Amino acid sequence: SKDAGGGVYHVYEPQLHVAAEERRVLEIALRNALQNDELHLNFQPVVNADTGGLTGFEALLRWTHPELGPISPAKFVPLAEDARLIAPIGEWVLRHACNEAAKWDDDVRVAVNVSPEQLHNPAFVAVVAQALAQSGITPNRLELEVTESVFMREGTGAVKVLEHILDLGCRLSLDDFGTGYSSLGYLSRTKFSSIKIDRSFVQGASKGVREAIAIIRAVVALAQSLGMATTAEGVETEEEHRMVQELGCTKVQGYYFGRPLPAHEALHLATRRKRG
Ligand code: C2E
Ligand code: CA
Ligand code: CA
Ligand code: CA
Repeated sequence: SKDAGGGVYHVYEPQLHVAAEERRVLEIALRNALQNDELHLNFQPVVNADTGGLTGFEALLRWTHPELGPISPAKFVPLAEDARLIAPIGEWVLRHACNEAAKWDDDVRVAVNVSPEQLHNPAFVAVVAQALAQSGITPNRLELEVTESVFMREGTGAVKVLEHILDLGCRLSLDDFGTGYSSLGYLSRTKFSSIKIDRSFVQGASKGVREAIAIIRAVVALAQSLGMATTAEGVETEEEHRMVQELGCTKVQGYYFGRPLPAHEALHLATRRKRG
């Protein structure tokens, strides 16, 4: 009834207020996080699905606030996007990720997550070029992970930026594939090296969910015909690994192969001298 609806509204209002207040507190804290040195990167191994050999690492941003403790990127990245802080933070991530990769064997790649907001700014191309030049890594060792949502906005600004990034010699991968936008037209226009299949499909497939299996199969076939690799994300068990390998995924990433690691542990794995 209307009365019950009104009651529900009043019950939820204080929580909405708290959420808005928390947002404001976090936003102010985030503005200081960069200069206070509260950000760091973790690196999660990405491995060949068949051989288990290391192909690279995905850089994952971490924020530890002195009082609030660690705050998840799932929470603060969207906040940074809204507060127009993602450009300086993203620049910091790129620079640090490339500098770290410069210490690794030169067949180990680094993948960096890029927000749509960053790609809608033409100045981003220079940011990438500078991170490459400063670190000295070969451009094809840098893979930028973008999501389908980039193609949802009007205009071709982001597509142009992606083309310039390809011209620099970097790779692109399509993150969280299948969770967002449904048109596939952009796949024929922008040259991705790989498609990352979201953990929700991996989980579903290993539980025998027919739709999840069908989707992974279709994505693998599509990727193969377009000359792209497929990375299964969030592989947590041997069973999930077996499943995505059988379905033809070429690379895998997940807790089963390695958690996101501090830089010094990634460095150890990425140096063959120490590996062998
Ligand atoms: P993502 O790009 O899809 O990254 C994969 C997420 O899955 C990471 O969460 C990773 O820790 C988690 N993960 C890896 N393996 C497993 C697994 O086996 N099981 C499960 N359940 N999870 C696994 P994380 O580090 O919390 O990052 C969350 C999201 O935050 C990322 O999702 C990405 O969208 C965003 N993010 C992280 N770092 C950056 C960054 O530097 N820039 C931008 N723009 N976004 C970032
Ligand atoms: Ca990613
Ligand atoms: Ca992902
Ligand atoms: Ca995700």
